[in-house]
Amino acid sequence: MTQDLIANVRGLNHWFGSGEVKKQALFDVNLTLKRGSFTVLMGPSGSGKTTVLTLIGCLRAVQDGSLQLLQNELRGASEAQLVALRRRLGFIFQAHNLHESLTATQNVMMGVQVHEGVAEQTAKAAAFHALGLVGLADRAGYLPANLSGGQKQRVAVARALVASPALVLADEPTAALDKDSAAEVVDLLKRMGTARGTTTLLVTHDNRILDRADRILTLEDGRIVKVEDRA
Ligand code: ADP
Ligand code: MG
Repeated sequence: MTQDLIANVRGLNHWFGSGEVKKQALFDVNLTLKRGSFTVLMGPSGSGKTTVLTLIGCLRAVQDGSLQLLQNELRGASEAQLVALRRRLGFIFQAHNLHESLTATQNVMMGVQVHEGVAEQTAKAAAFHALGLVGLADRAGYLPANLSGGQKQRVAVARALVASPALVLADEPTAALDKDSAAEVVDLLKRMGTARGTTTLLVTHDNRILDRADRILTLEDGRIVKVEDRA
């Protein structure tokens, strides 16, 4: 695989449950994520979007097919390999998943401290910098309870990007936001991705996001039914 591909997914199948209740969730999924690209994965609820994202994110084991991530084959990879790869990724979820007892800065520092041996002061400086990039320098000392939904999600964006991940995986990050906050969060992801050369895979069923995408993949019933290139 060329260095240009962050992920190369070939013939991916996935099942949940076993025996009587075993159910196939993904069918022969093929996709590539090009370095620096912004890919949107669409599809109705239950179509398999989160399953794809969590497989690429090394959050569940690949059962069948091939999934190469950052030149590593995930099928048959050890837990240690998966842990090491996860550290090179940034995650953003629908709920911001901030720690309520930590300030914005401390939450973003968690994104730096997934890497061992980063000094407290270095992490803090990186966190301040990232909060500045998402326009929240003046909220650095705030607890999540004192931030708006859009601001919390911007903190989550800062946390996901602070360690300059090779790939950012975002699962419906704008679902809980109003129109303006949603647009702001997506623009931010897009801008920071472009500035840092980060690759982004964003799962959504929010049509407002589509014009930001280089490529739009549509999943239906566990199958990729459409690939649209915008770039
Ligand atoms: P989406 O994110 O597009 O809404 P998911 O990837 O969450 O879809 O789910 C795809 C299918 O797999 C659905 O039918 C869902 O019910 C099923 N599924 C997802 N996660 C699990 C699980 N942990 N156990 C059993 N079935 C699951
Ligand atoms: Mg989902």
